[in-house]
Amino acid sequence: MSASTRKAASQGRIGDYNQTVILDAVRRSADGVSRVELAAATGLSAQAVTNIVRQLIAAGLITEGRRAPIARGKPRTLLNLNPDGQYAIGVHLDPAVITYVLLDLVGTTLAHARFVTPAHPDPAEVTADSAAQIEELIKVASISRDRIVGVGIAAPGPIDVDRGVIVDPPNLEGWQNVPLRDALRDAVGLPVLLDKDVTAAAAAEKWYGESGDFLFFYLGTGVGVGLVINNEVFRGTSHNSGQIGNIIVDNGIPCPCGYQGCLGEGSQPRMLVHLGIVNGALDHDVDLDDRPQVEAGLVELAERALSGNYPASQVLDTMVRGVLKASEDIALLLDLDHIVFGGPHWTTLAPFFSSGRIAELRRRHSLQSARELTTSGTRIGEDVGAVGAASLVLDHTFSTNPAVLLAG
Ligand SMILES: [Zn+2]
Repeated sequence: MSASTRKAASQGRIGDYNQTVILDAVRRSADGVSRVELAAATGLSAQAVTNIVRQLIAAGLITEGRRAPIARGKPRTLLNLNPDGQYAIGVHLDPAVITYVLLDLVGTTLAHARFVTPAHPDPAEVTADSAAQIEELIKVASISRDRIVGVGIAAPGPIDVDRGVIVDPPNLEGWQNVPLRDALRDAVGLPVLLDKDVTAAAAAEKWYGESGDFLFFYLGTGVGVGLVINNEVFRGTSHNSGQIGNIIVDNGIPCPCGYQGCLGEGSQPRMLVHLGIVNGALDHDVDLDDRPQVEAGLVELAERALSGNYPASQVLDTMVRGVLKASEDIALLLDLDHIVFGGPHWTTLAPFFSSGRIAELRRRHSLQSARELTTSGTRIGEDVGAVGAASLVLDHTFSTNPAVLLAG
């Protein structure tokens, strides 16, 4: 937003704008911040800060905490966010697993739940079920419903963010043009936003303190990347950036797209389990059309590889090489020097991203970059998509310019 449009947008709600600025400054000060420091940090006058702080305390969003001693004069009272001032709910719809979280204002998970996605998930049934799970979460956390800002949904792309519609994800059969955002809003009676799973995951890492620019490599039923560039979550022109499934990483398996050796086709759990069966690492009794069986097969493949089964190791090593090749190319393309790995399958697959493999990635990257590449695993864990969806909802409290609107 340019300075002039920001000014135009804030006319008439200048108080709201400044409240958001103050709230965000309080959020960034984990140990508390004084009114004097807020004035210095935001450029607002001492009187304006005092007035806004009074409003925010009355609204229950911030609290006065301990007094910080200073060299001389009256000690300064430190302000903190009130964790129970607001809440947000996140739903991560993954083809293999559906995750729900309820966060408080400082991002603590108060309740969470996870369920295996039905084999043939019907949009209407999933919507009704999600609404029921959300009610259950609210009950478990025993919080005040009127302090819930809204519900964020993280879903596989492509999505239509403006209309809140899931367009046609490759791994969700029967989910063409599903208006999930509005359907869930009507079912739970709370504002709802819809964003892409990889975008939500990147937003979560940023929310929980990952600083600077980075690429989030998402390992789920599909692969994808979320990007933080210039300290902002990057979404692209249609909010669908990060579709990397058809990047070619070897010359092997034919892909429905018409090429061979695409990363997405070669790294999906169904294919890994199939390859494990073909080369003798796994028994033959896995139904590849049954997602829960495939998920269990992937875990078993990983366990066998870890216990020294060579054919199992071969399958997973080939997949990891493909992931690292694509990561290297994307990092170089965008001049990013940090990669975060995560997503629903990260816990299972992390042991195969060995220090040797990572060292090789860094060495190759260094040949073409002025900066050293660093990598890390998600700091949030398996709930990263759902936590990210909820953090996008909380952005409406802390950002003067949230990228995705809450409908409702
Ligand atoms: Zn392809």
